[in-house]
Amino acid sequence: MKGKAFRHFCTITHHKLLVMKYCFRVGLYKQGLLHDLSKYSPTEFKVGCKYYQGTRSPNNAEREETGVSLAWLHHKGRNKHHYEYWIDYGLGLQKGEMTGMKMPIRYVVEMFLDRIAACRNYMGRSYTDHAPLDYFSKGKGHYMMHPETEEFLEYLLKMLAEKGERKTLRFVKEEVLPQGEDFKLHQS
Ligand SMILES: [Zn+2]
Repeated sequence: MKGKAFRHFCTITHHKLLVMKYCFRVGLYKQGLLHDLSKYSPTEFKVGCKYYQGTRSPNNAEREETGVSLAWLHHKGRNKHHYEYWIDYGLGLQKGEMTGMKMPIRYVVEMFLDRIAACRNYMGRSYTDHAPLDYFSKGKGHYMMHPETEEFLEYLLKMLAEKGERKTLRFVKEEVLPQGEDFKLHQS
């Protein structure tokens, strides 16, 4: 158990530091520091140790064994960079129907950076700037994400795949974040 706890601690900390580095590069200092902090809370940390496998998220293992990942429910309810945090009852929908609310731009950016870091960690040397877009494309059409949020995320992932990290991060820092919620993909 001790070995797993140590390895789980290293995995989440390594990821957290990488996301922090990216967040700092685009000027999201507070989000960089707070990213995924709840992974160190007992509810999430204990599950992470128990189901540590090294090759995939322990949440999947917990879900398979008990039918529900309490760690993930705890996590997504506290971390605004996950689109699942923003799922709620939609206005004008059927009673009880849920949908994705539009995410504030700075959390879409954090989600984008999170995906780069996660892909890098899982893929190691075989990572390319195309990998995060490929991962997104596999599930496209199945995410309960607000259409504008999804469109903006895909735009960033495509820019990363085509123009690379440096240009895309500069675009986020200099064009997207200064405009905040006024930022429009389509200038009318
Ligand atoms: Zn997270």
